[in-house]
Amino acid sequence: MEGIKSRAEGAAAPACELAARRHILFLVYSPQVLEHFKNPQNAGELPNATAVVEVSNPVCGDILQLAVRVEDGRIAEARFKTRGCVTAIACSSMLTETIRGKTLEEIRSIAPAQISEALGGLPPATFHGSQLACDALEAMLFKIGP
Ligand SMILES: [Zn+2]
Repeated sequence: MEGIKSRAEGAAAPACELAARRHILFLVYSPQVLEHFKNPQNAGELPNATAVVEVSNPVCGDILQLAVRVEDGRIAEARFKTRGCVTAIACSSMLTETIRGKTLEEIRSIAPAQISEALGGLPPATFHGSQLACDALEAMLFKIGP
């Protein structure tokens, strides 16, 4: 019994590694993910940015740089530069679309599930893309401050 128990505990850690491998082997992208990947919204540099942050994701090495310009407490402009998988790029694009025009208070409550749903519901193997987008958002809000 002890042997079984320790194997079960050991299985918890490499779950994300398995997800990353599945990610490569058999992945079906939603039409929304493919659309944002093929036609990313708000990609590139942002002149006169209020804050620029960069976050990375150890699951598959995605790097997301998010730049925003804040005017009167709202996100006037948002741009991203992402090096990473298809879903990370789609999530970055969706993130900038979601936060543009919103107040800092409104975007504070955006969760990975919301980004995922907006992209048709990400399967577990690629959910890390929406987590990465929200990590960038959190880092950006932290940088801007209260
Ligand atoms: Zn990825």
